[in-house]
Amino acid sequence: MTRIYIASKGDRAGLAALFRAALPDAEVMIDPSEFGDRPVSFAVVGRPDPGTLAAIPGLEVVLSLNAGVEHLLSSGEVPDGMPIVRMVDDGLAAGMTEWVAAQVMAWHRNILPYVRLQAKGTWSPFREKLASERIVTVLGAGALGRPAAELLAHIGFQTRVWSRTARPVAGATSFGGPDGLRDAVDGADVLVNLLPLTEQTRDLIDGPLLTAMAKGGLLVNGARGAHVVDADLLAALDSGQLSLAALDVFRTEPLPSADPLWSHPAVLVSPHVAAPTHPAPAVAEMAANVRRYLAGQPMHNVVDRNAGY
Ligand code: NDP
Repeated sequence: MTRIYIASKGDRAGLAALFRAALPDAEVMIDPSEFGDRPVSFAVVGRPDPGTLAAIPGLEVVLSLNAGVEHLLSSGEVPDGMPIVRMVDDGLAAGMTEWVAAQVMAWHRNILPYVRLQAKGTWSPFREKLASERIVTVLGAGALGRPAAELLAHIGFQTRVWSRTARPVAGATSFGGPDGLRDAVDGADVLVNLLPLTEQTRDLIDGPLLTAMAKGGLLVNGARGAHVVDADLLAALDSGQLSLAALDVFRTEPLPSADPLWSHPAVLVSPHVAAPTHPAPAVAEMAANVRRYLAGQPMHNVVDRNAGY
């Protein structure tokens, strides 16, 4: 019998119930005391504590509840050769697309400045631009970057997308590889980050990159805090090179109370909520991969350990 251990820290019982419904022939466990001496082939994880995976007998596959798996790769806890399957599902993509669109549209139509003017009782219209007058660059054309870019292009923004390999995205201009980054960002009004965190992408969003944007622009970071050099971001905000940064992710989470990002007037902080994993579609995806693995078929969304995502 297939055995699955839910090793995540959230609602284990809820996930287990969904797995039991999706895979009625499987034995689904939420406590290591249930392991016994028979192998447990699959582990469902978020950010497992050290030693969690090593304690699972006969583990073959790690199923991640998260799209980003840099913490699993850097932990050294997943043995070489053991597949890690990252989370890709429609709920995640829909959530991120909504969050990105909300941030870009709020900035584009001056929602925050009008809220501040309303507080002072001031009637003072800005010159409102059309989306077609703005350039938006999305970093990453994957499961999350692609639908976000497609929606922004559909709204009417001049949309560019940058990925490792240039990929066609409906309505957008595509750029690829390190040589394409500057062209993708040059003169952009909005920079949306949806890259995975790897050795190549860490600290990518630094002073020179922000300076390549048009003056007074918006940074939207929905990926990982370590993509952004915070000191350079604060300098760009203070100089007016950026007018706003909408940040969902941070180098340290929760964001420490003393961090200057909390109180900066041109920073919008959200607590890593852009695209939460929704249990039902997530379990449907993971159960489908379990079935594929048991049938000897290739699983979907297996992490490329060499690429780091
Ligand atoms: P994917 O793996 O589907 O897409 C990654 C994209 O980034 C691909 O287009 C890839 O290029 C590109 N890329 C990777 N490395 C480079 C590089 N060195 N240079 C240029 N482009 C590169 O990831 P997802 O879209 O599913 O997720 C992206 C990230 O979003 C996750 O890793 C996670 O950190 C973050 N996230 C945040 C959430 C939140 O709530 N804030 C929720 C979920 C995810 P190519 O197409 O050529 O492979």
